[in-house]
Amino acid sequence: MILCVLRKLKSRKTIINVVMLLLLVTTMHFSSTRHASADQPKKEMHALWAHPPAVGTTPEAIRKFVDQCKRANIDTIVILVKGAQGEIYWQSKRFPQAIAKGYEGFDFLGTLVKEAHAQGIRIDAWLCDFIEGPNGAAYREHPEWAQLNPDGTTTASEKLGQTRPYDYVWMCPARRPGYVDQWLIPMFEEVATNYQVDSVHHDYVRYPGDVAPDSYCFCDYCLAHIPQHAMLSYKTRPEERYRVKFAQPRIEANWWSDPTMLPGDWDKMDRREKADFILNGRTVPGGPPDMRYFFYEYRQHQIKRYVEELASHIRRLDRKVEISAAVFKNPILSSRFIGQHWNEWTPWIDIYMPMTYRSHFAGSFESYLDHLSETTARQIEWVNHERPIYAGIATTYLYREELTPIDDIRERINEMKNLPADDSKRRAEKARAIGESYALMKSHLAEVAPDAEKELGALIQAVTTNEGRGATPATLDSLAARMSKLRGDLPPGYFQPEKLTRAIEAARKAHPEGVAIFAAGNLAIEKLWPTLETAFKR
Ligand SMILES: [Zn+2]
Repeated sequence: MILCVLRKLKSRKTIINVVMLLLLVTTMHFSSTRHASADQPKKEMHALWAHPPAVGTTPEAIRKFVDQCKRANIDTIVILVKGAQGEIYWQSKRFPQAIAKGYEGFDFLGTLVKEAHAQGIRIDAWLCDFIEGPNGAAYREHPEWAQLNPDGTTTASEKLGQTRPYDYVWMCPARRPGYVDQWLIPMFEEVATNYQVDSVHHDYVRYPGDVAPDSYCFCDYCLAHIPQHAMLSYKTRPEERYRVKFAQPRIEANWWSDPTMLPGDWDKMDRREKADFILNGRTVPGGPPDMRYFFYEYRQHQIKRYVEELASHIRRLDRKVEISAAVFKNPILSSRFIGQHWNEWTPWIDIYMPMTYRSHFAGSFESYLDHLSETTARQIEWVNHERPIYAGIATTYLYREELTPIDDIRERINEMKNLPADDSKRRAEKARAIGESYALMKSHLAEVAPDAEKELGALIQAVTTNEGRGATPATLDSLAARMSKLRGDLPPGYFQPEKLTRAIEAARKAHPEGVAIFAAGNLAIEKLWPTLETAFKR
């Protein structure tokens, strides 16, 4: 095309001029691209997850919170507007029955948006997607939308650890019409339409893999659609089954000769039998038990389909609203365990905030720092630099060594309260455990808060002395109350600032576009706001 233009030009001088001009434009373009990427490092972005109680419920409290964020150079407040029990924190016209108690008569979100924008801070509205409460409005009104396990019960029948009840009901991401199109997407739309939020934020955008990775969803809809998704039988001539010709010596190598893999009596099977076939069946008789591959594929597909649908609704609005997501640290493992293959979502997610929290790493603090750098670098590779990654760091979990003794002592106190007074052997065991846990924190506490240590030391002494014989209901209660006060209002320095600073530095080694901190309420309890102000100084 350039040649055509040149041929038409009459004088040689003009040709030289045009060539010079082309060269100039190319050089300018080249240098401006280089300028943006290499010469001038991009500003590191800072996000902070915040729960409404950490922000406050009066305009003054909200302004004070925003001021604090400004001092810490927070660019984006990721504010919870739909919690894990299904409660919402905006003045919803469509879902007034879901508004959280205490937020009915006050425009919390509107006030926060106004105050944040006045300070140049963006608001990202954070919704917990598929997790709901057993008493939440969605499950109350539509129990048929809940995910079911092979026994036909919801996630509320699961246990956390050995005994703790799991107080959540997860909703089915696949069913249509259902929770996704009748409840969740309309909620996102209402927030993005009625409030000047800058972005909306996915959380719990997955299956409930932390309690039961292989048990959901086997609701009636999914039992019908998992085989349909993989087309494990035909709709035409559904009753016919064909004999596979085992032409290849390796059993699974005969897979392609017949896709009617659903048992002929599928329709007569009950929920448990169907789930058992989906999880443990064989695609080729005599081959490996590989049917569950299609279960995982289906779940990934359902989550991805929802992410895509939400984006199409949000991007149809008459103003630009971005979409961000809190995701598990490794999208490849997550795709198998929770259907969260998030590196495949780059067309529909503008910013990723992987929760690369220490709670997802089993080793020491030092090993976490190395693994945080390594994992963040991999996350950037996984999304192929297509979208920004904000490294998600949770302050509380950094302090495993400092928190474990406090948590352990509180648990032992509770156990001791439930022991019969004459069970001296087990009371002595608990008293010894309390003493040992306290020994782990005593010197550090004495360093940062000598008075608190003296007070606490005396209460520990009263409970543990004489092999636990001093542990009366009164001494146990006083110790429990003091421990609870300590946990809720940690002395400055008990959580060493260096740990947070070093974690942020470790994430920075991978050059993520931003850092996201979890969460505002903890920063206050843990006295870490000043540390964040220093770490995020520009
Ligand atoms: Zn389902």
